[in-house]
Amino acid sequence: MHHNKGFGTRCIHAGQNPDPSTGAIMTPVYQNSTYVQQSPGVIIEDYDYARSANPTRKALEANIASLEGARHGVMFASGLASIAACIHLLSSGDHVVLCDDVYGGTFRSLDKVFKQFAITYTRVDMTDLAATEAAFKPNTKLCWLETPTNPLLKVIDIAAVARIAKAKGALVAVDNTFATPVLTNPLALGADIVSHSCTKYIGGHSDVIGGVLLANDDALGERLHYIQNAVGAVPAPWDCFLLLRSTKTLHLRVQRHCENAAKIADYLAAQPQIERVIYPGREDHPQHAIARKQMRGGYGGMITATLKGGLPAARTFLERVKLFTLAESLGGVESLIEHPAIMTHASIDKPLREALGISDGLVRFSVGVEDVEDLIEDVAEALAAVKA
Ligand SMILES: *Cc1c(COP(=O)(O)O)cnc(C)c1O
Repeated sequence: MHHNKGFGTRCIHAGQNPDPSTGAIMTPVYQNSTYVQQSPGVIIEDYDYARSANPTRKALEANIASLEGARHGVMFASGLASIAACIHLLSSGDHVVLCDDVYGGTFRSLDKVFKQFAITYTRVDMTDLAATEAAFKPNTKLCWLETPTNPLLKVIDIAAVARIAKAKGALVAVDNTFATPVLTNPLALGADIVSHSCTKYIGGHSDVIGGVLLANDDALGERLHYIQNAVGAVPAPWDCFLLLRSTKTLHLRVQRHCENAAKIADYLAAQPQIERVIYPGREDHPQHAIARKQMRGGYGGMITATLKGGLPAARTFLERVKLFTLAESLGGVESLIEHPAIMTHASIDKPLREALGISDGLVRFSVGVEDVEDLIEDVAEALAAVKA
């Protein structure tokens, strides 16, 4: 339903009908673990046990599926649980090709957990298509990428990588957390699976942890639903309700995140204390042309910038900002800022961090939806304490 409507209309209505028992406009929180059976095995729809099916969760799955143009949406208790469910499609002996600055938790899951099951991986810079193609092995079954990446905001050409992976017979999964379904729909570009950490922009209010996988292929969608129930990392009904409330404003929030971030990126680029600004919407971004082709309506709310004075300058700046809160995570309505080398990416050894370009002067901004004049004033005051 609503599949032919505009994006904002789908944000608000897709997957949701007034509750059949009361007419309640909002999908209720079905806070229950089990359902009555009329006779052994005679159940209403597929409701026999709430790990297998829950109406609040189902409404949310249909809602996000619509936003990604997918036939199947499968919710999980966190973004990492959705990634783990995707890796559960694989078998012992299979190989995964990963983008090089993949989310740290995704890497840790493969490197420290799935390695025990003899699933191996290769990391590669997917902005280099020749290197990407060379990273595939005869046993590669999954190609996993993010775009824009974290924290370097590299933009990967989903269609080009999908063509390579398809020719090698591998599934293509895109972690679309940073771009959101507002800006990019990877399934339409050739991906088989989309993954989101709903904790970030989809939730948008820094108050819930969640994940989702989307797919179009019916057999794949059924297998992911099977894994959801069989492995069991399902989200709570209340969290699904919060996320349903969140998606109603996703289009509005992301639009403002993009507008604010574009202005702040330009402001930062003009400041003498700043060495480099990385923002996919700027013409000096190395993959700006791909971003223009692949992202619609904006370039996201994330900015990465390098301060000339290295760690001391970054530390001073991060201690002085007031509206930008120093915290991990991203994608909420409030602006956050962090230091990848010390905070989110500390688990990567320094030599590898440096090789990837995550230097000690690097700061990552998650630009919120406050008034941009206030955000710029906050950045200006903090920068004033940093020597040019
Ligand atoms: C946060 C994040 C995840 C993990 O999601 P959780 O909800 O924290 O488990 C995965 N991928 C990306 C790109 C993220 O930013």
